[in-house]
Amino acid sequence: MLEQEKSGYSCLNAEAFERAKAVIPGGVDSPVRAFGSVGGAPRFIARAKGAHLWDLNGKKYIDFVGSWGPMLLGHAHPKIIGAVQAQAEHGLSYGAPCELETVLAEKIMALMPNLEKIRFVSSGTEASMTALRLARGFTGRDKFIPFEGCYHGHSDALLVKAGSGCLTFGAPSSAGVPSETVKNTLNLEFNNLDQLESVFKTQGEEIAAVIVEPIAGNMNMILPRVGFLEKIRALCTQYGAVLIFDEVMTGFRVAQGGAQKIYNIQPDLTTLAKVIGGGMPVGAVAGRREIMDYLSPLGPVYQAGTLSGNPLAMAAGIAMIDLLSDEHIYQKLGHETAKFCKDLEAIAEGKNLPLKTVSMGGMFGLFFVKNLEDPLPQCFSEAMACDEARFKKFFHAALNHGIYWPASRFEAAFMSTAHLESGDEKTPVLERALMSFDQIFDEIR
Ligand code: PMP
Repeated sequence: MLEQEKSGYSCLNAEAFERAKAVIPGGVDSPVRAFGSVGGAPRFIARAKGAHLWDLNGKKYIDFVGSWGPMLLGHAHPKIIGAVQAQAEHGLSYGAPCELETVLAEKIMALMPNLEKIRFVSSGTEASMTALRLARGFTGRDKFIPFEGCYHGHSDALLVKAGSGCLTFGAPSSAGVPSETVKNTLNLEFNNLDQLESVFKTQGEEIAAVIVEPIAGNMNMILPRVGFLEKIRALCTQYGAVLIFDEVMTGFRVAQGGAQKIYNIQPDLTTLAKVIGGGMPVGAVAGRREIMDYLSPLGPVYQAGTLSGNPLAMAAGIAMIDLLSDEHIYQKLGHETAKFCKDLEAIAEGKNLPLKTVSMGGMFGLFFVKNLEDPLPQCFSEAMACDEARFKKFFHAALNHGIYWPASRFEAAFMSTAHLESGDEKTPVLERALMSFDQIFDEIR
């Protein structure tokens, strides 16, 4: 056990972890939660409010994970909780259509004009899996291109050198995925225009789709290089391939209209999840009508779900999107997040700690680069080259100082509007966070 971990290790968390491990593989229901890449025992969360989490031991944290993205307005927002409670009175699931699905679809489409039709599912994994099947069904082709370090959920075809938990466990792909399934997956380097062009030149007529996180958030956070997304768009159009933007993380997070609005690119299909469910399990695949109408029951591409369009999730999503209809929220969140990153860089610089930051809207990343003059990473191998040992130290020092950070150096961090307020204390949350980071950086330099 790490030194830092010992002091912050709570009996109740430890007991809960042991008990969970006896009945749940690794004690968790999603691998990155197990602290596998940083060591130590995960904190079991007892409750959350605004920008804060409390663990079983009653320790309070400023939360920069935000349930991995959905909590753009902070935890337990009263309007979202109210919407879920009100809907719960009318039933939890129908297995039949309800109007809430149409209402949420209309609200999302009003803010993302590229989306002509939407199908709701229950997770980001389902959304990407469906988008890929749809692209293959529509084009009648099998091959597709994802990018190394991007993560699109854990469906078989997409688990080739995928990012997120797979990276942290050092496994390029998962056991149990037949090589047959991934033989049509052409994994390319993010931000590498030449490689993309040459693959299209030789195999373009066979490529069904390119799927990309327009802003990568599963290899820490990496912005697209100027011209990268434009090149993907142009090649997909030229060769008749479907362009899928995986905006599961970036949708309603980096801007009201997602990354496609920021970069002014029209994908053919978009996947969404996280923010559009306000914290409830939800996902969506959406896009051009002629492609979407290939979905069952209209078309030949099968997709279904007992809990798809679940009324509680729809009610939470509607409340969330209503609250996000004011674009100023994004301007303020983006401005404050960028400022926070600059403040962190300045603190680090004062301590001779090589740190680089990047942000967009309410999403940001910290890179513990090896040398002060190192540039911001542009692709997965550059993200890999950052200082792993320092990240681990940082992670545990942060926990000790009440900062809850993603338990992997390959994850983006998330800010919410609640971070811009004071919560239940006098000093604003971000001011308190900066004071903690000052001490944390002292401990890890
Ligand atoms: N796509 C992206 C870009 C993601 O970040 C994630 C999850 N972090 C997924 C897909 C999968 O979503 P889920 O965990 O809801 O299945």
